[in-house]
Amino acid sequence: MMELKEVSVKYQDRIAIKDISLKIGKGEKVVLLGINGSGKTTLLKLLNALIYPSSGEFLYKGKKLKDAIKDIRKESIMLFQNPDVMLFNPTVYDEVAYSLRKKGLKESEVKEKVMYWLKELAIEDLVSLPPYKLSGGQKQRVALASVLAAEPQILLLDEPTAHMDLPSVGRLIEIIQKTEATCVISTHHISLAPELGNRLVVLSPHGRLLYDGAPENFLKDTSLLLEAGFMHTHSGSQWHFHSL
Ligand code: ADP
Repeated sequence: MMELKEVSVKYQDRIAIKDISLKIGKGEKVVLLGINGSGKTTLLKLLNALIYPSSGEFLYKGKKLKDAIKDIRKESIMLFQNPDVMLFNPTVYDEVAYSLRKKGLKESEVKEKVMYWLKELAIEDLVSLPPYKLSGGQKQRVALASVLAAEPQILLLDEPTAHMDLPSVGRLIEIIQKTEATCVISTHHISLAPELGNRLVVLSPHGRLLYDGAPENFLKDTSLLLEAGFMHTHSGSQWHFHSL
């Protein structure tokens, strides 16, 4: 469905991701793990065609990027790490209804879908509130509900759990497991990585592809964990890896 061939992205003089080759098939649930600054957001923006490769090639369903932009705009949605940039409607209801109304659905169908997603994310009680009045975690769930309501073929979620409490993380994990959409979910939390998907892609601190495979094998490999920039600390009788 999506293929990167030796793609690098540069911002001015700074290389954010370097020589990444990656194929993502239909319906895959890919977790993108890396410490802050490793290039996760850059890679997601690239997959959403919000930025272009400085070198290398991005193919979408076999098409070159310039021929695929229209399809990408229709079929793929990115949830940004900062929900403020995604919320622009007067109420939570209108926010989640936005893409459905744009598709021309009848208001009764719009209502049914909006209420379904608000319930899935346990935010029905916020339905009439203006988004700016919500907490960071609530905003993130509203932004997620709007993205899910649009029923995209490809969901690109940038640190969706950043401001979430544990029950919300549990709901998100269930939603990802249930959806037929192809999902790429970024996180810098090692412990969440195996829960969010069944394929793990790890970026090194300097934006190179360090690992692509089953989450368990990466989590067992101390030298790879250290190479990825995770910290190794001892607490109680156990060693733990974590990001700063
Ligand atoms: P992550 O999402 O893993 O935190 P990013 O993709 O945001 O990583 O950033 C990767 C690198 O690119 C970082 O060094 C960051 O400072 C740099 N970077 C990101 N966005 C920009 C930008 N718009 N201009 C210049 N440098 C940027």
